[in-house]
Amino acid sequence: MKQKSSILLIYTGGTIGMIKDFETGVLRAFDFDKLLMRIPELSHLDCDIDTYSFEEPLDSSNMNPDHWVKIATLVEDNYQEYDGFVVLHGSDTMSYSASALSFMLENLAKPVIFTGSQLPIGDLRTDAKENLITAIEIAALKKNNRSVIREVGLYFEFKLLRGNRTTKINAEHFQAFNSLNFPPLAESGVHLKVNHQNLLNPGRRKLRVHKKMDNRVALIKLFPGISEAVIAPILFNSGVKAVIIETYGAGNAPTEKWFTELMARAIKEGVHIVNVTQCSGGSVMMGHYETSAHLKKLGVINGKDITTEAAVVKLMYLLGNDVGPKVFKTIFETSLRGEMI
Ligand code: ASP
Repeated sequence: MKQKSSILLIYTGGTIGMIKDFETGVLRAFDFDKLLMRIPELSHLDCDIDTYSFEEPLDSSNMNPDHWVKIATLVEDNYQEYDGFVVLHGSDTMSYSASALSFMLENLAKPVIFTGSQLPIGDLRTDAKENLITAIEIAALKKNNRSVIREVGLYFEFKLLRGNRTTKINAEHFQAFNSLNFPPLAESGVHLKVNHQNLLNPGRRKLRVHKKMDNRVALIKLFPGISEAVIAPILFNSGVKAVIIETYGAGNAPTEKWFTELMARAIKEGVHIVNVTQCSGGSVMMGHYETSAHLKKLGVINGKDITTEAAVVKLMYLLGNDVGPKVFKTIFETSLRGEMI
């Protein structure tokens, strides 16, 4: 007999879990223990759902690595008991959290699906119901007694995307996320279509949960006119161990002497410098233009087609795991969870 899947629904906060008080018009957090009462459609799903709600639901602008550890620990503690996990999260920083969890949960063999919504669940025109119901359906998918999705995904507006490939691209549209460098893992229309060829296959090793994230990371977005006075204090700062330079196009940056010298000095002093493009799609190709050849020569790390969100948390993960300076560049440039080519 086919066994029903069991899903743990983790509510961290965000618009999805809010309802409007029709008298005052104020949005307030929804009581998740009454979830089935509010969304009776959930009882038609062919799975058992338990819920866990953060005591103080967060607007995702307040998310930080401690909260990621909390989510990772919930997955770890309940890993044997449930077939899948759905994490309800504010959309603003969802791509960072989904990316972080992808690194923290090594050898993940069950789905961890992030979702949220642009309109509260109690709103008449809400996108929350579709997002929530389909995210649960996806998390519950099993074949030959194994979960179909064995990675961290992000489901929003009819698409399941690899979490660490996503970026929030729109503050208003229902289609709030995109993954320009990697195709969807699944698409929902009349049928739920899983693109099996795009899925990660982690093998059968035991889940390892990494809980140390070192946030001594900085991000500099280049713009014409950026000066040494702005960049230098970020690079030479005891609170910073790794810096992402968001470069132009295929990874290009000024060739002016002051810039090259700053980069050289920072690398010499042990700061990890990563080249990530400011374009939402495409890849860094260091050495393709003269304006990136100097970075390649200096030993700048190639971010290839990684998103800025995934680069930030990958740095936190590698620094937190004390990856040594000799192998840091090679490991960063290796795809660990399908986050880059
Ligand atoms: N500010 C909200 C958050 O990220 C927006 C949302 O939930 O979509 O928590």
